[in-house]
Amino acid sequence: MSLAGPSQLTSVQFAMETGETDMDTTYDAVVIGGGTAGTIAAIQAGREGARTLLVEKNGMLGGTMTVGGVNAPAHFFAWGRQVIAGIGWELMRRTFKETGEPEPTADFTRENETPRHLSMDKSIFAALCDEAVIEAGADLLFHAMPAAVVFENEGWNLTICTKTGLREIRAKAVIDATGDANAVALAGFELERGETVQPATLHMSCSGYDVDTLDFAALKVASAEAVAAGELKTTDISWRDDGPESFLRLHGGNANHVSAPRADTSEGKSAVEVEGRRAMLRMHRFFRKQPGLGGFRVDWISPETGIRETVRIKGKKTVTAAEYEAGTLYDDAVCYAFYPVDEHRNDGLDTNYRLLRRHLLPTIPRGAMLPAHSRYLIVAGRCLSSDREANSALRVECPCMAMGQAAGAMAALSARKGLDPEDLPISDVREVLRRHGAVLPGDISLEAEPADSRKD
Ligand SMILES: Cc1cc2nc3c(=O)[nH]c(=O)nc-3n(C[C@H](O)[C@H](O)[C@H](O)COP(=O)(O)OP(=O)(O)OC[C@H]3O[C@@H](n4cnc5c(N)ncnc54)[C@H](O)[C@@H]3O)c2cc1C
Repeated sequence: MSLAGPSQLTSVQFAMETGETDMDTTYDAVVIGGGTAGTIAAIQAGREGARTLLVEKNGMLGGTMTVGGVNAPAHFFAWGRQVIAGIGWELMRRTFKETGEPEPTADFTRENETPRHLSMDKSIFAALCDEAVIEAGADLLFHAMPAAVVFENEGWNLTICTKTGLREIRAKAVIDATGDANAVALAGFELERGETVQPATLHMSCSGYDVDTLDFAALKVASAEAVAAGELKTTDISWRDDGPESFLRLHGGNANHVSAPRADTSEGKSAVEVEGRRAMLRMHRFFRKQPGLGGFRVDWISPETGIRETVRIKGKKTVTAAEYEAGTLYDDAVCYAFYPVDEHRNDGLDTNYRLLRRHLLPTIPRGAMLPAHSRYLIVAGRCLSSDREANSALRVECPCMAMGQAAGAMAALSARKGLDPEDLPISDVREVLRRHGAVLPGDISLEAEPADSRKD
């Protein structure tokens, strides 16, 4: 039924073709979490010949990029060059081809200007993620999550909770791509938790009004009165104390801030989901009473409130903001990362935002993806080992995709060679990544600017 060769069916293909369900119980690599990083990890591990299982608690791949409504990947390009490519970029290109949009090129400016985020169709992207995971020969289990993760006899015993009961799975390597280090926590390794965390955001799409006819000064006064009366929170309609103008101008991409102190737990996540929708309801009730907004509608909300920050692993290495902002090239670097420090304040108002200095290009070391004292356990995505400020930059989508690819390559190599990810020669990891289209740290020299970066 499963994997091992192009003629054999993955678990999803088997279920579609036979109407029966069946799955292997032993894998080279099990990826927990099919979001931004985990989807790419499963594709990379599968393409590299590893018997791979991807376990996802939702019914859709893409995580924050799809279910969280954040289809704004940053940044494949920096200083006029492509700095992150590989499988994440391939999925983006497939999406643009499908939707007939032009493929973006290295359009980032030479200077410290605010970089442009890309935007892609999240529904098409999610379907293409399914396709690519299955094409890579990986088994895919939606609506499932781990209940126990135990290291024994140089491999992992996983108990997976499915709709029909618990399933025991054996894996050589585990990749935790939950964003919340859930598998790492179940395995008993140490996590870092900030005294405060960034707020979450419920993405929504609103319509039924014409911004050109609205009196924003009057709306600002009315919103301040509603906040004073306890009917509205400032953060329901803004990230700053500046009234509802920017919220309303973001037609189709409206967003709030919601407090999210413990979103790595089911209990904490439940509270965030309820508060996100409460905030939406307060906002809806307020706007519909305002002149020019009688027809205000919420057309769509993302199925999950988007979480910026929960925990970070305590890794074999930890990226600090000082290292990040110095553009450190680690000896075990597996990918580049490029984004400003961007910490949304925990009171929901304003951000700590610092652009990178001209021509700086930070990297991510393998050691920040390996929990201290662990074996055959890899983390990909926003909970990598980093201090809070470095994390506020490293958490964005393109570095998460690049980490996912590096994790998939390491898991496949570890299973093949019987070596812990830390003991793999870094040149072997880089060779796999290069073969699958990734840009490797050290590949780019920023001393000479490319001619095509000199744009007005
Ligand atoms: C509101 C908001 C705006 C943002 N804006 C941008 C932006 O403009 N550009 C940008 O590049 N980045 C942005 N980011 C950051 C970025 O989107 C995320 O940090 C990144 O996508 C996280 O990727 P990840 O793979 O770590 O986690 P996710 O993409 O969240 O994936 C985690 C996956 O694991 C699954 N999962 C979780 N727990 C379990 C479990 N126990 N068992 C099984 N499955 C599990 C989840 O369902 C999910 O599919 C934003 C984030 C937020 C919240």
